[in-house]
Amino acid sequence: MSLAVLDARLGGELVGIRCEGGNIVALGPDVEAHPGDEMIEAAGAHLVPPLVNGHTHAAMTLFRGSGGDLPLLPWLEERIWPVEAKLDEEDVYRGARLACAEMIRGGTTRFWDMYWQPEATARAVEDAGIRAAIGAPLFDANGSFEELRDGAHRSLEALARFGPLVTPALAPHAIYTVSEKSLRWIGELSAERDLPVQIHLSETEKEVQDCLAEHGERPAHYLDRLGLLSERTILAHGVWLDPEELALIAERGATVVTNPAANMKLAVGGVFPHPAARAAGVKVGLGTDGAGSNDSLDLLADLKLFALAQKHAAGDPTAIAAAEAWAIATGARAPLLGATPLEAGAHADFLLLRRDSPELGIGDLASDLVYAASGSVVDTTVVAGEVLMRGGEVPGLDEIVAEAAERAHRLGL
Ligand SMILES: [Zn+2]
Repeated sequence: MSLAVLDARLGGELVGIRCEGGNIVALGPDVEAHPGDEMIEAAGAHLVPPLVNGHTHAAMTLFRGSGGDLPLLPWLEERIWPVEAKLDEEDVYRGARLACAEMIRGGTTRFWDMYWQPEATARAVEDAGIRAAIGAPLFDANGSFEELRDGAHRSLEALARFGPLVTPALAPHAIYTVSEKSLRWIGELSAERDLPVQIHLSETEKEVQDCLAEHGERPAHYLDRLGLLSERTILAHGVWLDPEELALIAERGATVVTNPAANMKLAVGGVFPHPAARAAGVKVGLGTDGAGSNDSLDLLADLKLFALAQKHAAGDPTAIAAAEAWAIATGARAPLLGATPLEAGAHADFLLLRRDSPELGIGDLASDLVYAASGSVVDTTVVAGEVLMRGGEVPGLDEIVAEAAERAHRLGL
């Protein structure tokens, strides 16, 4: 299986790109197709690296548009938790298939997922052809350490049976839902087996105050004491991190994934302190969070919100440059997230943008992508050399939407 894309626009010149065995084997102005290649004539369309959604709960597409104007606790207690208690594997599969289709359409080719029935999400990821790091949410607030440990082992074993598109991960839900003992164990397991860890951290000010009251230290220091702050760790949200925590996170090499849309929708009252995080040297990524609290999985929409929120919070339009914001959305500012550079030897994951996008015709491309574009500018999405979308059409999308809707209705959503 080989693919050749000709006459794509990259940095002001027209280039070709050839892919074999899932990787880019040649990229440049002189690249030509070989006999037997699947061919795409890009006709001057922009070639760009794909986006990485650093934090989501894919199957929560089923919860989209349900209880979206409620405060956090009633939303969780009335709309989310009672339904989640009834979810079966097919529900999660159908919700995750819809999420994958939306992400392919919007140019996201890799996501970081934390959700129930993780093997159903993994199946959806393989069937859709994109990449994901997947972890079962680990809680022991209402259970035991043994249950959490056994559940973690079960889901890791199930996830290990999937192919290279799926990366097994550990996903302790948060410091207020997982005990100290379990967090310490998760840190040890992560180190022993080189497993990435994703955890919600410092999403609300209350979480910080509770942590100070209970443990006498702020959340990042608490995680570090338990051995959970490392270059394998992704901290989702990080809204209330202070300068000392940012310095510690940078020193340990952990990644913070900011989720501006979900933070604003749930009105957490703050903005991830990106200028301070950058000054400290923190690795940063961008996520949508689940469609239950966003409700979109269009990472380009969140990219605009991210840049605007940073400028607005700083009272300074120079607080972040478009090129930096774009790099963050592609995962290029946090190696753990799994960015795919456009170069020979890398995974053949890339996007072609629509040539007729009115938003992209004038001005600097990075600036247009951050401030003017939405996911609708993506024409072609390629993962591992497979064309998952061409001409803005994801094959089978109508059926994927209908099956997810049927599942949501069955659940009373
Ligand atoms: Zn989340």
